[in-house]
Amino acid sequence: MSDPAFPSDWAEKLLSGDRRILAKAVTLVESTRSDHRDQAEALIAAVMPHTGKSTRIGISGVPGVGKSTFIEAFGQHVTDLGHRIAVLAVDPSSKRAGGSILGDKTRMEVLSRNPAAFIRPSPAGSTLGGVARRTRESMLLCEAAGFDVILVETVGVGQSETAVADMTDMFLLLLLPAGGDELQGLKKGIVELADMVLVNKADGDLAAQAKRTAADYHGALRLLNKVQADWTVPVLPCSALTGQGVDEAWTRIQAFRDLGTGNGGFQARRRDQARSWLWDELLAELTQRLRQDDTVRDMLPAVQKAVADGDLPAPIGARQLVDALLLGRNALQK
Ligand code: GDP
Repeated sequence: MSDPAFPSDWAEKLLSGDRRILAKAVTLVESTRSDHRDQAEALIAAVMPHTGKSTRIGISGVPGVGKSTFIEAFGQHVTDLGHRIAVLAVDPSSKRAGGSILGDKTRMEVLSRNPAAFIRPSPAGSTLGGVARRTRESMLLCEAAGFDVILVETVGVGQSETAVADMTDMFLLLLLPAGGDELQGLKKGIVELADMVLVNKADGDLAAQAKRTAADYHGALRLLNKVQADWTVPVLPCSALTGQGVDEAWTRIQAFRDLGTGNGGFQARRRDQARSWLWDELLAELTQRLRQDDTVRDMLPAVQKAVADGDLPAPIGARQLVDALLLGRNALQK
């Protein structure tokens, strides 16, 4: 027998809910070393039958909207109800040390001490694709470890929203009690992704303004006519600070899930996401093999130069390189 691809008791410990092993397994998944990658893939394959049972929730909103305050209150609420919550993040701009989301130790102070919670900052990485791939895998590990609510946080200012919406069952957007998208610093198209909108900071002096904002967005979303059978995107005022509206948010999340499992929308979304996971992996795998292939590496400088000089159309250069990978140099010279 060959050595086990990862410490043989990891899968078992993970399935028993061992948070220390979960943290190590996530570190393994985030590693770029190829031997770690092999181990991570073997571990994921081993626990895969025990994944998929959580409610996966994406959450976004511009910095300062109150995401961490909300997650703290929301996490407390669902763990009080007996759930276990894992909080992950997708933020390609964050560095492991002192990251912009979830990296700061002072964020979610109470939740991070809650034994029914697991909090993990965004993995380091320069590309959104890479960060999203690792987060998707970490999510599976959390599920294997028995976390039945997974929150994936991102900041409402870039492309990462689409990536997060593409790995979660429901996408939540937090808004400020203020004017339209532009005033809020939101990127265009993000509101359209939302399955539920929460207008946060609906407390004190801001309560009335939050109500107005909620009504405005409610109207705007109706005009957008989001195609989703039987679901009208709720726009709810809430206060992460006082906790008001947090229970309502959880109730609506469950209603959305029940509706989706009833009409098949939930399963369809998961299947679509699995397919897009496959394609992400396929493209990443091909890219890596292209970069590693000796023939491709030899040809690359000349092809790049020809394309840069305007002597060779990029599609033809790309095809030549892919042919070189698939057929090898000899076949090309025939
Ligand atoms: P994040 O950057 O989206 O994670 O936002 P934070 O959770 O760090 O919150 C930013 C600031 O808004 C902090 O000073 C919070 O105390 C404050 N804040 C968050 N939620 C609320 C809320 O519901 N009401 C009020 N009044 N302030 C809030």
